[in-house]
Amino acid sequence: MSDLVVRNIGTIVTGEIASPVAGGDTLVVREGLVAFVGSERDADTTGVDREIDAAGATVIPGLCDNHVHPVIGDYTPRQRQSDFIESCLHGGVTTMVSAGEPHTPGRPKDPAGVKALTVLAHKSFNNLRPAGVKVHAGAVMLEPGLTEADFEEMASAGVKLVAEIGISGVKDPGVAAEMTRWAQALGMKVMVHTGGASIPGSGVIGADFVVEVQPDVAGHTNGGPTALPLSDVVTILDETTAHIEIVHNGNVRAAADVVQLAAERDELHRVVIGTDSPAGSGVQPLGMLRVMSWAASLGGIDPELAVGMATGNVARLHELNVGVLEVGREADFSIVDAPLGSQAEDALTAIAIGDTLAVGGTVIDGQIRFVKSRNTPPPVRPIAFP
Ligand SMILES: [Zn+2]
Repeated sequence: MSDLVVRNIGTIVTGEIASPVAGGDTLVVREGLVAFVGSERDADTTGVDREIDAAGATVIPGLCDNHVHPVIGDYTPRQRQSDFIESCLHGGVTTMVSAGEPHTPGRPKDPAGVKALTVLAHKSFNNLRPAGVKVHAGAVMLEPGLTEADFEEMASAGVKLVAEIGISGVKDPGVAAEMTRWAQALGMKVMVHTGGASIPGSGVIGADFVVEVQPDVAGHTNGGPTALPLSDVVTILDETTAHIEIVHNGNVRAAADVVQLAAERDELHRVVIGTDSPAGSGVQPLGMLRVMSWAASLGGIDPELAVGMATGNVARLHELNVGVLEVGREADFSIVDAPLGSQAEDALTAIAIGDTLAVGGTVIDGQIRFVKSRNTPPPVRPIAFP
């Protein structure tokens, strides 16, 4: 059931920044994995009986939202909203990475409670894929009193993430740095909140804090929602090895400035895209598509590189076997196109002029999850599904 061929693809965007467009017009999926990317004449489709005719439209990897705040299930208490993850699937999102579960009602702040919540969120989303979306949750929120043994216990339960530092009880950079060393030694990825305060309880964090902590990601460098100065982003790029993130729930102009800066420094491989939702500004089902358009249309980079920042870069950061269309990866992708009425003729040009893509359909692990997005405009081309 998870074997599939996609024919007549106009453009294959790989998601890999170093080689963002693949030659050819055909993608073959076998047993849920990408089995072939290239020209139809070279493709072996023996035994594959399901076919998508892309009609010249574009295929991109499933989008990987680097910054979500889930709780449990497909519900967010922050906005009293159900099925927000399913709604994001209709914006082409197939993977989400938690930056913490701070919206959990009555969130415990003692070490035993923090550990329990983190392990629960991690294991719960391991057992549940809302609408098929792969949610990587269970990001420990740092609270005073957590010990190295606590991190070892969480790591042995499968926890791989530290929530954005600055929105929970640990405010001292020295304490944050010590806990970060414990976490990273256990293979966890650590994010630091940057810029202004988001909600009561979070703080204002600049480059000096990030440099002291040396995280894996400087979260929402364009603001969450208030951006830090661009000179601080320069310092972070100079004095850490962290990825820098831009998000929908931020400052649009700052997003463009950060992208331009990274492009000038030839460091677009360090930029990752997220939505930072659910949050005070809501849930944005098309947030990932919109930030890609900001990056290209306002930040001035090639649209296929903007796709890479929303897919392959996030997958590489978190060591996930998704986000890139190459043989052996999990077959998560969307057939996208210029939206009906766009001045652009194809998907990449639509991103470049700032339009929001039309998502014709999205596939996860070779399974077609929906045909015709309920949230995006319709595509120009007559994409045909089995
Ligand atoms: Zn934040």
